[in-house]
Amino acid sequence: KKLGIALVGLGSYSTYQLAPALQDTRHCYLAGIVTGTAAKEKIWANRYNIPQENIYNYENFDTIADNDAIDVVYVVLPNSMHAEFSVRAAEAGKHVICEKPMAMNVAECDAIIDACNKAGVKLGMGYRLHSEPYTQEVKRFVREKTFGDVLYVSADAAYRSTGNPNQWRLNRKLSGGGALMNMGVYAIQSAIYSTGENPVSVTAQEFSTRPAYFKDTDETITAQFEFASGAVANMMTSHNVRANRLYASCVNGWFELDPASTYIPLAGRTSRGELDFPQESQQKLQMDDFASHVLYGTPKLAPGEMGKRDMIIVEAIYKSIAEGGKKQQMNFEPKYGFG
Ligand code: NAD
Repeated sequence: KKLGIALVGLGSYSTYQLAPALQDTRHCYLAGIVTGTAAKEKIWANRYNIPQENIYNYENFDTIADNDAIDVVYVVLPNSMHAEFSVRAAEAGKHVICEKPMAMNVAECDAIIDACNKAGVKLGMGYRLHSEPYTQEVKRFVREKTFGDVLYVSADAAYRSTGNPNQWRLNRKLSGGGALMNMGVYAIQSAIYSTGENPVSVTAQEFSTRPAYFKDTDETITAQFEFASGAVANMMTSHNVRANRLYASCVNGWFELDPASTYIPLAGRTSRGELDFPQESQQKLQMDDFASHVLYGTPKLAPGEMGKRDMIIVEAIYKSIAEGGKKQQMNFEPKYGFG
């Protein structure tokens, strides 16, 4: 059996990554679309052979509850719309995949998690890296202490934005924040899976060099994490800098991914040599992992609680900056796992 997925929001990620990946998935397929742009309906229907009854707009979306061809709703909208559409999908009885960052704030993450629990549907994050082999190898190094205890991690996730200054990612009302909300979650995730721990504190700084362009959102943020083991991490995220890397220094060596969180190809090396894994579509692997979880109960690699944990850290980083770089303590319950 293959699960039917409906993509909500047919922007660049759905168009160039998710829909093509869904042509190759084993446990799910592109069954429907939800779009606010009527002109896209015909184009997508023709390109992907989507029947009219599986095409929705933002207004009639809730009637998807009556459509047995749709098992999973994948929310790929601007961040400000994640909570609304994830909750509506859950209330329609559909399993939910929510893109990163999970929502605008922790309260919205709670609303999504509660709605999915109440409806008895599964909730997963669009964190594609947990399904791909380079990241899985990093997690194995940490779990098996291949290079001994991790002492220090450096995690950068950034790109240089020069396009339309009015794009939604640079509009706080739609994005919830700038680089930190967009690429920052990758750096946070790198720091966590490269140490195998949730942080116990964070201290953060913000830098602005192009205020005329970044009128509304953060440009560059650095943050330092402490972990209970004694490991420390430094992260950088930016919409002004090109960088994408994780590096971990351990008692008996080191490992590095560069790039660490882009689409394929990823690359990496360790103090013992190069890493070399198949470069398969991360989105394909991710959606198949989620579908396999729903169908067969295999482990959920990126649960909603992970998205909420990252939002707790995002809020702590913004709070540290607002308080002039004051260290924020964090105390995660085990249910926020670090997987
Ligand atoms: P995009 O700008 O290309 O597309 C956004 C879509 O939302 C468009 O179809 C647009 O029509 C629709 N939309 C509805 N209301 C809108 C509004 N008020 N303003 C702007 N657009 C509106 O964005 P994208 O790159 O496809 O990103 C969508 C989501 O996917 C974001 O949450 C983003 O963080 C996430 N994303 C994740 C990855 C990943 O690797 N996991 C990669 C890219 C994007």
